[in-house]
Amino acid sequence: MTGSRVTEIQYKNTPQNRVTVKTEQGKEYTFDLLIGADGVSSVVRRTILPGVRPLPPNGNCAYRAIVPMEKVLQDPGLREIDPLNMNVWMGPNASVAAIASRPVPS
Ligand SMILES: Cc1cc2nc3c(=O)[nH]c(=O)nc-3n(C[C@H](O)[C@H](O)[C@H](O)COP(=O)(O)OP(=O)(O)OC[C@H]3O[C@@H](n4cnc5c(N)ncnc54)[C@H](O)[C@@H]3O)c2cc1C
Repeated sequence: MTGSRVTEIQYKNTPQNRVTVKTEQGKEYTFDLLIGADGVSSVVRRTILPGVRPLPPNGNCAYRAIVPMEKVLQDPGLREIDPLNMNVWMGPNASVAAIASRPVPS
């Protein structure tokens, strides 16, 4: 089953302990096993653990960018970057982490 959004799951008191899913299109499918891998707003989690809610957003945010290493090395303050390790700069209420995606050209 692909390209379908699951809206409802039934697994209690079903014939032969099978699990039935209903989709947005109104179709029903029955399986022996359902693997719940449907992310943070999981219908599977909501069905089997109705009291469990993911933590709300904490207000932190991260920006990401990919910068060519040639440009990084043009900056005198960044020439000492360690290409084999994660480089972290800590500041008040913020930090920057840089990870080389491949070895620095020599
Ligand atoms: C901007 C961003 C950056 C991130 N960077 C990193 C990182 O660098 N390293 C890291 O480890 N993690 C990172 N994460 C977190 C990581 O993406 C998640 O933890 C991971 O993707 C969760 O995997 P998952 O399989 O549980 O859910 P997801 O990857 O969310 O997959 C869930 C799938 O289920 C499908 N689905 C959902 N509901 C239904 C439904 N009702 N019916 C049918 N299908 C459904 C969705 O379409 C999706 O395809 C990042 C997340 C974000 C948002």
